[in-house]
Amino acid sequence: MKNKRLRLVYNPYAGRRKLTAQLDTVIRIFQESGHEVSIHRASSPEDIEQIASQSLDVDRLVIAGGDGSIHQAVNGLLRISAEKRPVLGILPVGTANDLAYALHLPKSIPEACKVIGKGNAFEMDTGKFNDRYFVNVASAGLLTDVSQKVDTRVKNTLGQLAYFLKGIETLPSFRPFHVEFENAGKRYAEEVVLFMAVNGLSVGGLRQLVPRASLTDGKLDILIVPAAGWPETLRLLLSILTGEKANPEKIVEFHTSELTVLTDRPIHSDLDGESGPESTWHIQIGPKISVIC
Ligand SMILES: [Mg+2]
Repeated sequence: MKNKRLRLVYNPYAGRRKLTAQLDTVIRIFQESGHEVSIHRASSPEDIEQIASQSLDVDRLVIAGGDGSIHQAVNGLLRISAEKRPVLGILPVGTANDLAYALHLPKSIPEACKVIGKGNAFEMDTGKFNDRYFVNVASAGLLTDVSQKVDTRVKNTLGQLAYFLKGIETLPSFRPFHVEFENAGKRYAEEVVLFMAVNGLSVGGLRQLVPRASLTDGKLDILIVPAAGWPETLRLLLSILTGEKANPEKIVEFHTSELTVLTDRPIHSDLDGESGPESTWHIQIGPKISVIC
């Protein structure tokens, strides 16, 4: 039987350099499962996207990193036509691994390599946000672009705590923004502090945010927290973070495959922890992508 060609792309700075010490084990497991392995050490996020977009020469493209690295890889892979596109494999070694959780991938690197070695592929949805794709979450507002602002070293040392600390730091200077859109024949126009379009099953490790989400339903889960004066807004935020949605009628939640969102001023977005387009946003379900799990 001819060996399958596998390219491993790794981000040397992801997740406390957990992978580099195990690189030899990783290559051994891939080879033993019948793969001819090539390796690319990513020098930047853009480099991951670039190498993914050129990976027509391999059967599997394995990304060692977190959701941000997967985000870059998927944006590269979707530039290749579906019939020539390699299957995506994920070694979850980043700080934020929401997608790996959704796919039930093992946390242990050797175990995840064995799963990739078997190569059972699954067709999952992607989301599209203007001209970029996202795999887990597109968001804007409070607590959302925190990942871009937190220093990599701090992220690796403090993990999730770093995000919350940074999030709190942004509170005093935060200004709610006005959004307008139409969904299911109803017009919505309100001041909001947080807007999310979720493709995955958790955000920042919080699984209770989108309890009914599915990776294959062709829908995104939209979650919006309106501005309601600071004490009430904080209570709403806390209630969604803890899953206790104490005032569910105030939090806007629905499923959709397409949504156009207008804002009162250009608002910055975050896609899977990477910087995304400014509003206006055209949000829709993207093409399905083959991923090993
Ligand atoms: Mg879905």
